Amino acid sequence: MPGIARLRDFVTGMTRLVERHGADEPRMLDEGEKLLRALVTQDDWLPEEFAAPSQESYRQYLLYCDPLERFSVVSFVWMPGHRTPIHNHTVWGLVGVMRGVEKCEEFSPAIKKTHSHESKPGDVDRVSPSIGDIHVVSNPGKQTAVSIHVYGGNIGALHRHVYDPASGAPKEFISGYHNATVPNLWDRSRSAGS
Ligand code: FE
Repeated sequence: MPGIARLRDFVTGMTRLVERHGADEPRMLDEGEKLLRALVTQDDWLPEEFAAPSQESYRQYLLYCDPLERFSVVSFVWMPGHRTPIHNHTVWGLVGVMRGVEKCEEFSPAIKKTHSHESKPGDVDRVSPSIGDIHVVSNPGKQTAVSIHVYGGNIGALHRHVYDPASGAPKEFISGYHNATVPNLWDRSRSAGS
């Protein structure tokens, strides 16, 4: 069952999960982590245009958004040296690395660095306002990194904050997405039986 069916199955699994346990964040994170790990350990399904890097900055491609905006699935593509500003999320999120290496630096609500760690393919990280959701993500490696993220909302449309590294001052932002079209999950004619 290679190809886009993997993403379709992930979306189906996440939809079932959010229907049953959408109000239970710890359970969403635990069960969602298992689904996301299964997705990112099979690197044969992401269409090339959603893994395309840009010299300019990291890219954020929407792969799917739940019709009720209870969750969204996004691919992030980082060239070596790319990094995000210090930012928050306001909703729960899971970050699964699929290619390359990603470095995550976590910050306290007072915008002091608390932890730093690196993730490799198959690793899944968590964020949420209840466990800490302020961080900087960067690519410390020598190859393009790709990670798949799932968030408890339409992440590109949420009002969030970036923080000044020197003063910690917050500034409102809405991240948006770099793509105008999403992958076609529903053309089952190409893989009869899947
Ligand atoms: Fe983030």
